[in-house]
Formats: sequence, C-alpha cells, structure tokens
Amino acid sequence: MLAVIASQAPVGIEGIPIQVEVDIRRGLPGIDVVGLPDGAVREARDRVRVAIRNSGFRFPGDRILVNLSPAGIRKEGASYDLAIALAILKASEQLPFPANRRIMVVGELNLRGTVLPVRGVLSAIASGLQDGIRLFLVPQENLAEARALCGEGIFGIASLRAAAAVLERLARGSYPAGRRGGASQTGCRKADEPEALWGDIADIKGQPRLKRALQVAAAGRHHLLLFGPPGSGKTMAARRLPSILPPLSWEESLLVTRIHSTAGVLPAGAGLVRDPPFRMPHHSASAEGIIGGGKLPRPGEVSLAHEGVLFLDEAAEFSTPVLQSLREPMEEGSITIARAGTSMRFPARFQLVLAMNPCPCGNLGRKQATCFCSTLEISRYWRKLGGALLDRVDLRIPLEPVRFEDMTGSDASDAGNSAVAAGRVAAAMRAQRARYKDLSFSRNAHIPPGLIDRFCRLGPDSRRALGDAAEQFNLSSRAFHSILKVARTIADLEASELIGKDHLLEAVQYRRYCEGDVYWNYQ
Ligand SMILES: [Zn+2]
Repeated sequence: MLAVIASQAPVGIEGIPIQVEVDIRRGLPGIDVVGLPDGAVREARDRVRVAIRNSGFRFPGDRILVNLSPAGIRKEGASYDLAIALAILKASEQLPFPANRRIMVVGELNLRGTVLPVRGVLSAIASGLQDGIRLFLVPQENLAEARALCGEGIFGIASLRAAAAVLERLARGSYPAGRRGGASQTGCRKADEPEALWGDIADIKGQPRLKRALQVAAAGRHHLLLFGPPGSGKTMAARRLPSILPPLSWEESLLVTRIHSTAGVLPAGAGLVRDPPFRMPHHSASAEGIIGGGKLPRPGEVSLAHEGVLFLDEAAEFSTPVLQSLREPMEEGSITIARAGTSMRFPARFQLVLAMNPCPCGNLGRKQATCFCSTLEISRYWRKLGGALLDRVDLRIPLEPVRFEDMTGSDASDAGNSAVAAGRVAAAMRAQRARYKDLSFSRNAHIPPGLIDRFCRLGPDSRRALGDAAEQFNLSSRAFHSILKVARTIADLEASELIGKDHLLEAVQYRRYCEGDVYWNYQ
C-alpha cells in the first residue's frame, strides 16, 4: 500500500517538489520518517497522529514508513504535516484520491486538525507548475499569496477534514464550489492591497536641493547618502522616498513576493508585493539578519530590499563587517551565502540609502554650535563606512538644520509634492525601460561599465565640462562612471536623449560633498 503526494522544500527561493510516500505493513505499531528530516519534520509523527484522530479518522495500528524523497535534500519545518497526514489516510484506504493526478500539498497541522500557514507557498506553487502539477492544496491563510500565480486548481484549506472533502470531490470528478467545507478554489484574481502610507515629500520643508536629489535617486535608483546634524530631517526625508517610487513590474513583483514568502515576512492574507520594498534594519541587527544565512539559509535584509530601498539610519553605528558585506550585493545585484560546503544565491539588487551625522557629536558644520570632535575622531567616524562603500554611492547630499522660516509656509517649488514628483519619476523610468528593453538591467544605476559610452552620450559642451570636473576633483574611473549615470537620469527626468551640460554639472555636484566643507578630506 503506497500513497504519493508532492510537497516542497525551499532551496534558496526556489522550491523543489518532494514526494511524500507512505508504506503501511504489518508489524509493531509505530511511525518512522526517513529522507533527511529535521527535528520539526520528525515531530510531525506525533502531530499527525493526534490530528488524524481528532478529525474523525482512524490512525492505522500498523508499522508506518514515511519516505520523503529525494533524500539528498534536507527537509525543514512543519510544512509537510498535511501531506503526510493525507498520504497516511490514502494508504490506509480511508480517503479516495483523484486518479492519475499529482497533487501538491503544503500546510502545518495543529493537534485539532486545523491547517496553519507556512512560508514559501508562492515558491512552492511556482515550482509545482514548472513540474507539471496542476492541483494544489495550500493553507487558507496563504491563499492570497498563492493567488498571485494564475493556477486553476489552487484550493485554500482550513483543516484536515476540509482537505479530505476536497480530495473526495476531486476523486468523484466534481470540483467543490466556492468556500464550502472550509475550502475555496481560486482562479486568477487581483488582491486588493491597501496603499502604503509613506507620507509626502511636501512634508519636507525648505531644502529644494534635497527634494530634487530624492527625485534623481528615485528615477535612476541611485544609491544615496544624506548627512547633516541632528534635526536636519535625514530620516524623515529617506522615509519619503517610497512615496515617489513607481510600482514594481509584474516580473519584479513576483520575484519580490517569492523572496518575502521564503523569508516568512509576508503578512497573513497578503497577496503580491506591488510596491518597492522599504527595509530599515536597526543598527544592532546581526550580519546574518542583514546578509542572510541560517541553518537552511534564508534571505536577509539585502534580499528583502530587492527592487526596493535598504535604508541604514545612523549608518556609522552599523558594525564594520555588516557595512563591508554590502559591497558584494551592490556590485553583483545578488548575494551568495556559503554554508557547510554548499552555497546559495539570493537576489539583492537594492537601492542603498545611508543617513548619518557629519561627525560623532553631530555639530560639525553647524553655524551656532561647536564641534568638539578631534580630526582623528572624525576621520575614524567616516572611515567606518569605508572608502570602497562610499565610492559606490552616487549621490551625497549635505543637509542643514531646517531654518525657522522654512518650518512654516508652503513649498512653491515645482517638485513640491509626491504626486507630481512620482509622475516625473515614472516617466523617467519608462524611458529607461524602453532604452534597455533587451538587456539584463532596466535602470541607469545598473548600466555596466562597458555600456556607459553607448547609453550616456555627451554633446561637445558636456564633454568639456566633464573633462574639467575630472581634472578639478581628480575623479576615479568609478566616480567618472557614476557621474555619467546620474547625468543620464537627470536628462531622462527632462525627457532628453542627449546629456546636456547642465545635466552633467548637476551630477558632478551630487558626487562631491558640499562646497568648502571638510568631510571630503576625511576619506
Ligand atoms: Zn563633532
């Protein structure tokens, strides 16, 4: 007697279908689970036994062998419970199964037989579809997430009894309709998501240069550093960035949702992630939390911020290993996590936003205050970030404390509010998507060095201006490329295919720190 059900194991953000086979034969009553199960999977024996009884079924009094294959992949967590329980019911002939149909089953059981949500459901369904599976039983609470993929036969399951009812009807050839029996079937529907509340850049008083820089950063997805004394509104400004970022494309949305699903951070009942993520880890976060890792590696903040923003407030407070580990994903757009002989790759193309004080005491550059930090202390403070990391930040914006007259009164500048700015950013983004449509990137910040000449064409005026800047500021080749990419974005914001001199000079300005200040010297 043998029952086969496919479940899935997450490997990175990919799911691998796992066959759950159950063999029942005469012998001492008992249940064994083989095929590299971890502690939680082995404990399924006890949960499943009680859940089966409490759902009105009989638990076989024979020797039960549960085999999870392929055996080479480690199985973690409780998401195999429901599959194991159904396989036992099938093998003990208590439950008819639809003939010749492979079914993917994911879900954790509690002792009463209720199905609990699990992480990684979207990945499970994606891998199942790829594998030719067309029937899925998923926890009711993961249904909205599962709905993101247009599957005909996806059923939301609330309990073991409900799962049995669905299988009985499928075996009889009739799909259960609607939500009867605690199960609901879904086609392809769009989830309604509440709009995220990010405030509005109109909340930023004064500081027209800052608002402009936010727009440029958003339009080309350039990394951004905001620095200035406490009270200059760095954090507030960074938190307004999502209000002007356009929504994700369908492909981006799907991948971001898979990452969040794998990490288990999708809120219950959530559907596709449609807006660029905004991640703001605390400076006390561990390297594992930021980069990813764990026994079965899970995505960290750098991956959760994929296609979105990774905001490090008080950036200098983060540990040096954490700051230095950002270089790989900033360069590659992904992060490799090596562990015990295997390595796993997670997407990690984020827009880095750093906020920090200008010096340890925060008073440097303030007109009515004195900074008591020594040159050495200031130098150490900036070195913490490291030249290599800072060198990858295209826009560096010094902020000053908000003046009293700016706190009141409204901003009449043309980019004063998020609705206007978001419209421009979206237009600039469309221009980039069109320009790079057959390439592996879609934003100006990600143009590889080899293609910069092709896409960042300069007129004679702007070429001369760039030459002057290179001489004056002794630009590295990375700085040179960074200026060209930012200038490309500024031209896109003005719907200009050619990069003009003004575009270029504005980009040069962002690359330096502010005039006459001392920060630049401490690199
Ligand atoms: Zn100071």
